[in-house]
Amino acid sequence: MQPRNSGFQCLSQAALSRSRFLQLAAGVLLPYAGLRLSAAAPNPELAQNSGASGTRDAAASGRTGTVLVSQFGPVKIHSYLSPLDGFHVNTQMIEGPTAVVIFDGQLLLPYADEVASYVQGLGKPVDRIILSHAHTDHWSGLQVLTERFPDARVFALDGVADQLRARGSARLDSFRPIYGDRIATKVTIPTETVTEGLQRIDGITYDFKRFVDAEADLQLVALLPEQKVLMAFDLVFSPNEHAFTVVDHFDHWMIILESLKALQGYDTITIGHDTPVNRSAIDSTIVYVKRAKEIHAASADAKTYSESLKAAFPDRQQAGWVDFSARLLYAARR
Ligand SMILES: [Zn+2]
Repeated sequence: MQPRNSGFQCLSQAALSRSRFLQLAAGVLLPYAGLRLSAAAPNPELAQNSGASGTRDAAASGRTGTVLVSQFGPVKIHSYLSPLDGFHVNTQMIEGPTAVVIFDGQLLLPYADEVASYVQGLGKPVDRIILSHAHTDHWSGLQVLTERFPDARVFALDGVADQLRARGSARLDSFRPIYGDRIATKVTIPTETVTEGLQRIDGITYDFKRFVDAEADLQLVALLPEQKVLMAFDLVFSPNEHAFTVVDHFDHWMIILESLKALQGYDTITIGHDTPVNRSAIDSTIVYVKRAKEIHAASADAKTYSESLKAAFPDRQQAGWVDFSARLLYAARR
Protein backbone atom coordinates (compact mmCIF):
# COMPACT_ATOMS: atom_id res chain seq x y z
CA MET A 1 0.00 0.00 0.00
CA GLN A 2 1.25 3.44 -0.87
CA PRO A 3 1.89 5.78 2.01
CA ARG A 4 -0.87 8.27 1.40
CA ASN A 5 -0.77 11.82 2.51
CA SER A 6 2.68 11.29 3.88
CA GLY A 7 3.01 14.99 4.49
CA PHE A 8 4.71 17.71 2.54
CA GLN A 9 8.01 18.80 3.96
CA CYS A 10 9.05 22.38 3.70
CA LEU A 11 12.52 22.58 2.18
CA SER A 12 12.75 26.32 2.13
CA GLN A 13 11.86 29.10 4.52
CA ALA A 14 11.53 26.58 7.31
CA ALA A 15 13.17 29.14 9.54
CA LEU A 16 11.05 32.00 8.23
CA SER A 17 7.64 32.39 9.81
CA ARG A 18 4.74 32.86 7.42
CA SER A 19 3.86 36.23 8.91
CA ARG A 20 7.44 37.44 8.38
CA PHE A 21 7.36 35.97 4.89
CA LEU A 22 4.19 37.91 4.09
CA GLN A 23 5.63 41.09 5.55
CA LEU A 24 8.59 40.75 3.22
CA ALA A 25 6.30 40.00 0.32
CA ALA A 26 4.23 43.08 1.12
CA GLY A 27 7.27 45.23 0.47
CA VAL A 28 7.68 43.71 -2.96
CA LEU A 29 4.01 44.32 -3.69
CA LEU A 30 3.98 48.05 -3.07
CA PRO A 31 4.29 48.96 -6.75
CA TYR A 32 1.21 46.90 -7.52
CA ALA A 33 -1.59 49.43 -7.12
CA GLY A 34 -4.73 48.02 -5.60
CA LEU A 35 -3.20 44.82 -4.27
CA ARG A 36 -3.44 44.83 -0.51
CA LEU A 37 -2.45 42.21 1.99
CA SER A 38 -4.92 41.20 4.61
CA ALA A 39 -3.81 40.16 8.07
CA ALA A 40 -1.20 37.46 7.94
CA ALA A 41 -2.70 34.59 9.85
CA PRO A 42 -0.49 31.56 10.31
CA ASN A 43 -1.07 28.88 7.72
CA PRO A 44 -1.49 25.56 9.52
CA GLU A 45 -0.49 23.66 6.41
CA LEU A 46 2.89 25.34 6.24
CA ALA A 47 3.51 25.29 9.96
CA GLN A 48 2.61 21.65 10.13
CA ASN A 49 4.98 20.75 7.38
CA SER A 50 7.99 22.79 8.35
CA GLY A 51 10.44 19.93 8.26
CA ALA A 52 13.86 20.84 9.52
CA SER A 53 15.54 18.56 7.02
CA GLY A 54 15.80 21.11 4.28
CA THR A 55 16.72 24.23 6.15
CA ARG A 56 20.31 24.03 4.99
CA ASP A 57 19.14 23.51 1.44
CA ALA A 58 17.23 26.80 1.51
CA ALA A 59 20.16 28.69 3.00
CA ALA A 60 22.54 27.29 0.43
CA SER A 61 20.35 28.01 -2.57
CA GLY A 62 19.17 31.48 -1.59
CA ARG A 63 15.78 30.52 -2.96
CA THR A 64 12.92 32.92 -2.28
CA GLY A 65 10.11 30.49 -3.10
CA THR A 66 9.07 27.56 -0.94
CA VAL A 67 9.39 23.92 -1.93
CA LEU A 68 7.25 21.26 -0.29
CA VAL A 69 8.02 17.62 -0.96
CA SER A 70 5.81 14.59 -0.55
CA GLN A 71 7.02 11.06 -1.12
CA PHE A 72 4.85 8.18 -2.28
CA GLY A 73 7.16 5.18 -2.57
CA PRO A 74 9.40 5.81 -5.60
CA VAL A 75 7.45 8.94 -6.60
CA LYS A 76 8.14 12.38 -5.18
CA ILE A 77 6.00 15.44 -5.71
CA HIS A 78 7.91 18.69 -5.33
CA SER A 79 5.65 21.74 -5.09
CA TYR A 80 7.37 25.07 -5.69
CA LEU A 81 5.32 27.94 -4.28
CA SER A 82 6.25 31.42 -5.42
CA PRO A 83 6.48 34.42 -3.11
CA LEU A 84 3.34 36.50 -2.94
CA ASP A 85 4.24 38.95 -5.70
CA GLY A 86 4.14 35.93 -8.03
CA PHE A 87 0.56 35.21 -6.85
CA HIS A 88 1.63 32.23 -4.70
CA VAL A 89 1.46 30.22 -7.90
CA ASN A 90 2.69 26.64 -7.85
CA THR A 91 4.90 24.64 -10.13
CA GLN A 92 4.51 20.92 -9.49
CA MET A 93 7.45 18.68 -10.24
CA ILE A 94 6.68 14.97 -10.37
CA GLU A 95 9.89 13.02 -9.88
CA GLY A 96 9.79 9.42 -11.03
CA PRO A 97 12.54 6.81 -11.17
CA THR A 98 14.35 8.31 -14.16
CA ALA A 99 12.80 11.69 -15.05
CA VAL A 100 10.86 14.73 -13.91
CA VAL A 101 7.56 16.03 -15.29
CA ILE A 102 6.93 19.74 -14.67
CA PHE A 103 3.43 21.21 -14.43
CA ASP A 104 3.15 25.00 -14.96
CA GLY A 105 5.80 27.61 -15.36
CA GLN A 106 5.29 30.53 -12.93
CA LEU A 107 4.38 34.17 -13.59
CA LEU A 108 7.73 35.82 -12.92
CA LEU A 109 10.94 34.82 -14.65
CA PRO A 110 13.13 34.83 -11.50
CA TYR A 111 10.81 32.29 -9.88
CA ALA A 112 10.80 30.11 -13.00
CA ASP A 113 14.58 30.28 -12.76
CA GLU A 114 14.41 29.04 -9.16
CA VAL A 115 12.23 26.16 -10.34
CA ALA A 116 14.74 25.30 -13.07
CA SER A 117 17.64 25.32 -10.63
CA TYR A 118 15.72 23.15 -8.21
CA VAL A 119 14.89 20.63 -10.95
CA GLN A 120 18.51 20.53 -12.05
CA GLY A 121 19.44 19.70 -8.48
CA LEU A 122 17.29 16.57 -8.70
CA GLY A 123 19.76 15.23 -11.26
CA LYS A 124 17.19 13.76 -13.64
CA PRO A 125 16.18 14.94 -17.12
CA VAL A 126 12.92 16.82 -17.65
CA ASP A 127 10.67 14.48 -19.64
CA ARG A 128 8.12 17.17 -20.47
CA ILE A 129 6.48 20.37 -19.27
CA ILE A 130 2.69 20.44 -19.03
CA LEU A 131 0.68 23.67 -18.85
CA SER A 132 -2.57 23.40 -16.89
CA HIS A 133 -4.40 26.37 -18.41
CA ALA A 134 -3.86 29.61 -20.30
CA HIS A 135 -3.75 32.13 -17.45
CA THR A 136 -0.55 34.17 -17.53
CA ASP A 137 0.50 33.41 -13.97
CA HIS A 138 0.95 29.78 -15.01
CA TRP A 139 2.81 30.17 -18.30
CA SER A 140 4.85 33.41 -18.49
CA GLY A 141 7.86 31.67 -16.92
CA LEU A 142 7.78 28.85 -19.47
CA GLN A 143 10.14 31.12 -21.38
CA VAL A 144 12.83 30.35 -18.78
CA LEU A 145 11.98 26.68 -18.39
CA THR A 146 12.17 26.04 -22.13
CA GLU A 147 15.50 27.87 -22.27
CA ARG A 148 16.90 25.88 -19.38
CA PHE A 149 15.45 22.55 -20.62
CA PRO A 150 15.54 22.83 -24.42
CA ASP A 151 14.81 19.12 -24.94
CA ALA A 152 11.56 19.17 -22.95
CA ARG A 153 8.43 19.40 -25.07
CA VAL A 154 5.59 21.61 -23.82
CA PHE A 155 2.15 20.02 -23.60
CA ALA A 156 -1.31 21.47 -22.97
CA LEU A 157 -4.93 20.59 -23.64
CA ASP A 158 -6.19 21.02 -27.17
CA GLY A 159 -7.23 24.67 -27.48
CA VAL A 160 -4.76 26.18 -25.01
CA ALA A 161 -2.15 26.91 -27.69
CA ASP A 162 -4.81 28.77 -29.70
CA GLN A 163 -5.74 30.82 -26.64
CA LEU A 164 -2.11 31.79 -26.13
CA ARG A 165 -1.64 32.66 -29.81
CA ALA A 166 -4.71 34.89 -29.66
CA ARG A 167 -4.22 36.63 -26.32
CA GLY A 168 -0.80 35.80 -24.90
CA SER A 169 1.05 38.90 -26.06
CA ALA A 170 -1.66 41.26 -24.84
CA ARG A 171 -1.64 39.52 -21.46
CA LEU A 172 2.11 39.95 -21.11
CA ASP A 173 1.78 43.61 -22.11
CA SER A 174 -0.79 44.13 -19.35
CA PHE A 175 1.57 42.75 -16.70
CA ARG A 176 4.73 44.51 -17.96
CA PRO A 177 4.01 47.94 -16.41
CA ILE A 178 3.81 46.21 -13.03
CA TYR A 179 6.63 43.71 -13.29
CA GLY A 180 8.98 45.11 -15.95
CA ASP A 181 11.61 42.65 -17.07
CA ARG A 182 10.45 40.03 -14.59
CA ILE A 183 7.60 39.14 -16.97
CA ALA A 184 8.20 37.09 -20.13
CA THR A 185 9.24 38.89 -23.31
CA LYS A 186 7.65 36.24 -25.52
CA VAL A 187 4.74 33.84 -25.45
CA THR A 188 5.70 30.17 -25.15
CA ILE A 189 3.23 28.19 -27.23
CA PRO A 190 2.72 24.52 -26.30
CA THR A 191 3.56 22.25 -29.24
CA GLU A 192 2.06 18.99 -27.98
CA THR A 193 -1.46 18.03 -26.94
CA VAL A 194 -2.36 16.36 -23.66
CA THR A 195 -4.85 13.61 -24.39
CA GLU A 196 -7.53 12.76 -21.87
CA GLY A 197 -7.50 9.51 -19.99
CA LEU A 198 -4.89 7.19 -18.54
CA GLN A 199 -1.27 7.53 -19.52
CA ARG A 200 1.99 6.20 -18.10
CA ILE A 201 4.99 8.51 -17.98
CA ASP A 202 8.22 7.22 -16.43
CA GLY A 203 6.31 4.38 -14.79
CA ILE A 204 3.79 6.70 -13.14
CA THR A 205 0.10 6.49 -14.05
CA TYR A 206 -1.65 9.77 -14.80
CA ASP A 207 -5.33 10.25 -15.50
CA PHE A 208 -5.78 13.50 -17.40
CA LYS A 209 -9.13 15.26 -17.40
CA ARG A 210 -10.33 18.23 -19.40
CA PHE A 211 -12.80 20.73 -17.95
CA VAL A 212 -14.34 23.79 -19.55
CA ASP A 213 -16.00 26.95 -18.23
CA ALA A 214 -14.81 27.13 -14.64
CA GLU A 215 -12.08 29.39 -13.18
CA ALA A 216 -10.67 29.34 -16.70
CA ASP A 217 -12.32 28.53 -20.02
CA LEU A 218 -10.22 25.41 -20.34
CA GLN A 219 -8.58 23.60 -17.42
CA LEU A 220 -6.51 20.45 -17.07
CA VAL A 221 -6.80 18.21 -14.01
CA ALA A 222 -4.31 15.40 -13.42
CA LEU A 223 -5.02 12.49 -11.13
CA LEU A 224 -2.31 10.17 -9.86
CA PRO A 225 -4.52 7.14 -9.13
CA GLU A 226 -1.79 5.04 -7.52
CA GLN A 227 -0.72 7.82 -5.18
CA LYS A 228 -4.29 9.10 -4.73
CA VAL A 229 -3.20 12.65 -5.51
CA LEU A 230 -5.52 15.09 -7.24
CA MET A 231 -3.78 17.90 -9.08
CA ALA A 232 -6.68 20.34 -9.28
CA PHE A 233 -4.80 23.48 -10.33
CA ASP A 234 -7.15 26.51 -10.31
CA LEU A 235 -10.37 24.57 -9.76
CA VAL A 236 -9.74 24.37 -6.01
CA PHE A 237 -8.45 27.17 -3.78
CA SER A 238 -7.03 27.18 -0.28
CA PRO A 239 -9.54 28.01 2.46
CA ASN A 240 -6.98 30.58 3.63
CA GLU A 241 -6.99 32.65 0.45
CA HIS A 242 -9.46 34.26 -1.91
CA ALA A 243 -10.08 32.50 -5.23
CA PHE A 244 -9.69 34.12 -8.63
CA THR A 245 -13.11 34.74 -10.20
CA VAL A 246 -12.20 36.33 -13.51
CA VAL A 247 -15.04 34.91 -15.65
CA ASP A 248 -18.69 34.27 -14.79
CA HIS A 249 -18.78 30.48 -15.11
CA PHE A 250 -19.86 30.13 -11.49
CA ASP A 251 -22.56 27.50 -12.03
CA HIS A 252 -20.44 25.20 -14.16
CA TRP A 253 -17.45 25.59 -11.85
CA MET A 254 -19.62 24.33 -8.95
CA ILE A 255 -20.79 21.34 -11.02
CA ILE A 256 -17.17 20.42 -11.72
CA LEU A 257 -16.27 20.75 -8.04
CA GLU A 258 -19.08 18.34 -7.17
CA SER A 259 -17.63 15.87 -9.65
CA LEU A 260 -14.18 16.19 -8.05
CA LYS A 261 -15.78 15.61 -4.68
CA ALA A 262 -17.18 12.34 -5.95
CA LEU A 263 -13.68 10.99 -6.59
CA GLN A 264 -13.07 8.53 -3.79
CA GLY A 265 -9.90 8.51 -1.72
CA TYR A 266 -8.17 11.58 -3.12
CA ASP A 267 -7.23 13.28 0.12
CA THR A 268 -4.11 15.07 -1.12
CA ILE A 269 -4.94 17.91 -3.47
CA THR A 270 -2.34 20.13 -5.04
CA ILE A 271 -3.72 23.46 -6.16
CA GLY A 272 -2.68 26.28 -8.46
CA HIS A 273 -2.04 28.77 -5.67
CA ASP A 274 -0.82 28.17 -2.10
CA THR A 275 0.11 24.96 -0.33
CA PRO A 276 -1.60 21.59 -0.90
CA VAL A 277 -4.95 21.04 0.77
CA ASN A 278 -7.21 18.16 1.75
CA ARG A 279 -10.62 17.44 0.27
CA SER A 280 -12.43 19.83 2.61
CA ALA A 281 -11.05 22.60 0.37
CA ILE A 282 -13.40 21.42 -2.39
CA ASP A 283 -16.34 22.21 -0.12
CA SER A 284 -14.96 25.57 0.93
CA THR A 285 -14.33 26.45 -2.73
CA ILE A 286 -17.95 25.56 -3.56
CA VAL A 287 -19.14 27.85 -0.75
CA TYR A 288 -16.91 30.63 -2.08
CA VAL A 289 -17.98 30.26 -5.71
CA LYS A 290 -21.66 30.14 -4.73
CA ARG A 291 -21.33 33.35 -2.74
CA ALA A 292 -19.34 35.00 -5.54
CA LYS A 293 -22.12 34.11 -7.98
CA GLU A 294 -24.76 35.70 -5.72
CA ILE A 295 -22.67 38.82 -5.22
CA HIS A 296 -21.97 39.06 -8.94
CA ALA A 297 -25.69 38.87 -9.72
CA ALA A 298 -26.39 41.66 -7.23
CA SER A 299 -23.45 43.95 -8.10
CA ALA A 300 -23.60 46.42 -10.95
CA ASP A 301 -19.91 47.22 -10.98
CA ALA A 302 -16.49 45.84 -10.11
CA LYS A 303 -16.10 47.97 -6.98
CA THR A 304 -19.35 46.74 -5.42
CA TYR A 305 -18.54 43.14 -6.29
CA SER A 306 -15.07 43.40 -4.84
CA GLU A 307 -16.11 45.08 -1.60
CA SER A 308 -18.98 42.66 -1.03
CA LEU A 309 -16.90 39.55 -1.67
CA LYS A 310 -14.15 40.74 0.65
CA ALA A 311 -16.75 41.47 3.33
CA ALA A 312 -18.27 38.01 2.88
CA PHE A 313 -14.92 36.29 3.48
CA PRO A 314 -12.99 38.55 5.85
CA ASP A 315 -10.68 35.76 7.02
CA ARG A 316 -9.37 34.87 3.57
CA GLN A 317 -6.04 36.42 2.65
CA GLN A 318 -5.04 38.09 -0.62
CA ALA A 319 -7.88 40.62 -0.83
CA GLY A 320 -5.97 42.11 -3.77
CA TRP A 321 -6.84 39.02 -5.80
CA VAL A 322 -10.50 40.02 -5.49
CA ASP A 323 -9.79 43.48 -6.93
CA PHE A 324 -7.79 41.87 -9.74
CA SER A 325 -10.62 39.40 -10.47
CA ALA A 326 -13.33 42.06 -10.32
CA ARG A 327 -11.58 44.20 -12.93
CA LEU A 328 -11.41 41.29 -15.39
CA LEU A 329 -14.87 39.95 -14.54
CA TYR A 330 -16.58 43.29 -15.19
CA ALA A 331 -14.39 44.18 -18.18
CA ALA A 332 -15.52 40.96 -19.85
CA ARG A 333 -19.12 41.95 -19.30
CA ARG A 334 -18.92 45.04 -21.45
ZN1 LIG B 1 -3.88 30.77 -11.34
